[in-house]
Amino acid sequence: MKAASAPRWAKQREGRWFTRLPVTLMLNGAQLTLPLHVVTGRSPGPTLGIITNVHGDEFLPTTAIRKLLGELDTAKLKGRLAIISVANPLATAGFGRLSPEQHGRTDLHEVFPGNPRGNATQMIAAAITANVLDHADAFIDFHSGGSGGRLQARVDYNARAEAEVKKQSLALARAFCMPFVHENDLTGTATHYANERGIPAANPEMGGSYLGPKNTMLYTQQAIRGLRGIMAHLGMLDGSVKPPRQLDFNQQARHEIRPLNSGYLISSYEHADDLGKRIAKGARLGEVIDIYSYEVLEEMIAPVDGYLFFSRYSGLVGAGTQAFALAEEAASRWLD
Ligand SMILES: [Zn+2]
Repeated sequence: MKAASAPRWAKQREGRWFTRLPVTLMLNGAQLTLPLHVVTGRSPGPTLGIITNVHGDEFLPTTAIRKLLGELDTAKLKGRLAIISVANPLATAGFGRLSPEQHGRTDLHEVFPGNPRGNATQMIAAAITANVLDHADAFIDFHSGGSGGRLQARVDYNARAEAEVKKQSLALARAFCMPFVHENDLTGTATHYANERGIPAANPEMGGSYLGPKNTMLYTQQAIRGLRGIMAHLGMLDGSVKPPRQLDFNQQARHEIRPLNSGYLISSYEHADDLGKRIAKGARLGEVIDIYSYEVLEEMIAPVDGYLFFSRYSGLVGAGTQAFALAEEAASRWLD
């Protein structure tokens, strides 16, 4: 592990603490800061780092964590949570996924560990690295569907982690209790950097934004259950976690179905419980219609027998965007 001097919050006593970490001065004259929440339990234990809103429009994890913290009794907490509630405020302020910058890489999910002398996105990553990642014993980079009406139900772990860290990261991912775990290439992400430090890390991709009250409540409950599962797994809360039967799939098993044309997607799978369904090769997942001519532009067809782990609400889609995704049955494994 890299040596890092202890952060200001390392001496916090039981309770909650909030601060804004300075990053840089913006062109509107305001200071760009990152919100850091530290929740310290009564008993000693590990530090779990969590970041949310790495993509600016994915706010389900942020609001779920706010609810979780409202319910959490620090007398029963062992160790500490260090949470960046909005990891990319520039993207969030623009209601978008990426930073609205003129130069350099603008996806915070690709620039870790960052650079304090890079562009603003890299400066943000460097501040998260210095204040959270370098001091955590386990780490969660929590994503959801964003403004495009996406539905998700999986937790990713890093295919490129060293074997023992990968094993620990899979156990962490499983403790979130989603139907899928996915061995994914997370190069450039905070999770990959955490793994390089030798700590387990997982990247939930679950729920979505603007999904209506019923699904929002469901996914909020699942997010809280998942984080409690992670904390129990790490020994931060009493109780044990028994993950459900989960499908584990890697990148070779992942099939993304992307429209060749922009248009309006009529989705056949827009309910939360559609995720996890077995889909036969050749089944119709949806169709894209031309909102100018009203013609059907194309049908979206399942390319393999597999399980649906990503879907969309009906709505506008751009050419080449991910509309659906399947984990190929023949290339995946069940974990009991
Ligand atoms: Zn994301």
